[in-house]
Amino acid sequence: MASGKTVHEVNPLTPGLYLVATPIGSARDITLRALDILASADVLAAEDTRTLRHLMEIHGIALGDRPLVPCHDHNEAQASPRLLQAIAAGKSVAYASEAGTPMISDPGFPLARAAIAEGLQVTAAPGPSAAICALTVAGLPTDRFLFAGFAPSTKSARRSFLQELAHQPATLVLYESPKRINQILDDLCEIFGESRKMALCRELTKRFEEVIRGSVGQVREACHDRVLKGEIVLVLGRGEKVASDAATVEAALDRALEQMTVKDAATAVAEAFGLTRRDVYQLALSRGRK
Ligand code: SAM
Repeated sequence: MASGKTVHEVNPLTPGLYLVATPIGSARDITLRALDILASADVLAAEDTRTLRHLMEIHGIALGDRPLVPCHDHNEAQASPRLLQAIAAGKSVAYASEAGTPMISDPGFPLARAAIAEGLQVTAAPGPSAAICALTVAGLPTDRFLFAGFAPSTKSARRSFLQELAHQPATLVLYESPKRINQILDDLCEIFGESRKMALCRELTKRFEEVIRGSVGQVREACHDRVLKGEIVLVLGRGEKVASDAATVEAALDRALEQMTVKDAATAVAEAFGLTRRDVYQLALSRGRK
């Protein structure tokens, strides 16, 4: 796809690290300032050099004889010192992850942290991120949200991760692979309850963009006989506030202790009230059960 007119300006940049957000689908979702920075930086660094090169080609930006340095999860420790040295020597370095905003479930953090520690200028060219894009279309409150990244892939770790999030008084944003979508929807039904509101946002800004809104149970039902492809963000409505005054928790714990071991009762009550298992376990012990 050609971008039409060349809109970028080539101007010397102040030395520093420029963290550049790039499109999450539609190539034209890039800011004019991001294009200026990509056109002007002395050194370019990218999680995926082919993707950045392609994006620059689309927008008519020549790499010329500027270095394009790979910097990803597997080599960030080796690549960073070279980039930091370049900045210290007065160069501008633009860093882009494969798609979206660097450091949002993407590399860039060790590089930015080291640049800050060395007193170098660090600035952002803000732009697309799938998390914010999903929040924009999900139809769920955005006044307070918690970005939780990817859930762990093993079942037990994923369940503990979700249990910790279930009672957060905030809209939750999760990234998920289409391969695990049915498993996480099953876990969400069990841990968050089928009635929690959610939106499954797939292939945002791309040709087959789709947003499935409803309760967790309805979204699971809508997906269970489909093979979902592409990239997915899950947005979950906030946990209901649970009355958790001491007397209510103690009464629930006493009821649970009549039927369960201390450990199981502590787990069940902690999950129901959004408390830590250790605190409820201590409370159970103090109520005379071992
Ligand atoms: N740094 C990126 C950002 O700012 O959104 C995220 C990179 S992370 C490695 C990739 C994940 O982001 C995907 O697995 C998916 O969960 C989400 N994602 C990226 N692009 C997406 C899109 N167009 N639609 C839906 N989800 C997307």
